[in-house]
Amino acid sequence: AKANGRNCVRLFDPNDPLSSDDNENIAATLRMAVRNDLVHLVYQPIQNMRTGRVEGVESLMRLKMVDGTPLSPAQFIPVAERTGAILELGLWAIRRACTEVLAPGLAPLASVNVSAIQLKSRGFALAVSTILEETGVPGSQLAFEITEGIDMEGQSDVIRCITDLQALGIRIWLDDFGTGFAGLSWLRLFPFDTVKIDRSFLQDARRPAGRAMLEDIIRLIRNRGLKILIEGLETADHVDLMHELGIELGQGYYLGRPVPIEEVRIKAVPRLAT
Ligand code: C2E
Ligand code: CA
Ligand code: CA
Ligand code: CA
Repeated sequence: AKANGRNCVRLFDPNDPLSSDDNENIAATLRMAVRNDLVHLVYQPIQNMRTGRVEGVESLMRLKMVDGTPLSPAQFIPVAERTGAILELGLWAIRRACTEVLAPGLAPLASVNVSAIQLKSRGFALAVSTILEETGVPGSQLAFEITEGIDMEGQSDVIRCITDLQALGIRIWLDDFGTGFAGLSWLRLFPFDTVKIDRSFLQDARRPAGRAMLEDIIRLIRNRGLKILIEGLETADHVDLMHELGIELGQGYYLGRPVPIEEVRIKAVPRLAT
């Protein structure tokens, strides 16, 4: 981003490193985001590759600055985690997914991305159970996607929190599997329900070595009795590969882009034959 002085409108390029001024602006935006309607969720379909039915949606956060400039999650999520704003925003996202998608029955399942900081924070599982009670949504319709590595210090707190969430019926998914953050040790530590394989493996699968690697990973996850969701399906070839490998769940631009809530019904309900 360009530092053009205090009062100038600036464009944020997700590829540019952020200056400390940018970070301050983002932090300020985050502090007032919920109250001032600067944040909303978009939803991307998760498809059963065998039946073609939409099994659920992943919620993804969108934020704009007061002047309307959009920020990408890659820019604002790290700032929200550093400042602690993720605690309020994260609970807001869970509540919003419950009220706007699940309570009206627009999708059978919604997943929400949850940061490690949230899992470590006191009272998180209790706050989530309150949201379920107040919105009347059964926990079994929610999945939490977890990516980030947990340091040894916070591990027992996180395990306790995940156990409490699972007691509410919430499914815990391991996101971005294979990226280094979400690695093998995680599979050993936590009772995950589904593993989301990072899209980099799909891109590499074009070459024989990459394809072999993908097959190894799939075997490893299946041997543990876990379900597999592959993300980043961008082409018909990717979909063919899913069928070849017998993958159950898929997500990606080819199947459906993240859309605002107004478009979710069309995406979520399978079309009736006419
Ligand atoms: P993620 O959880 O891995 O989410 C998937 C990202 O891939 C999303 O980017 C989505 O728009 C994008 N994507 C989906 N299909 C395709 C595809 O076919 N090709 C490509 N190239 N990309 C695809 P987005 O929305 O920019 O989110 C980026 C990351 O920000 C997310 O990665 C997640 O880690 C984080 N994030 C987003 N919303 C939240 C949230 O509410 N809470 C937390 N803690 N993190 C969030
Ligand atoms: Ca995710
Ligand atoms: Ca992911
Ligand atoms: Ca990610």
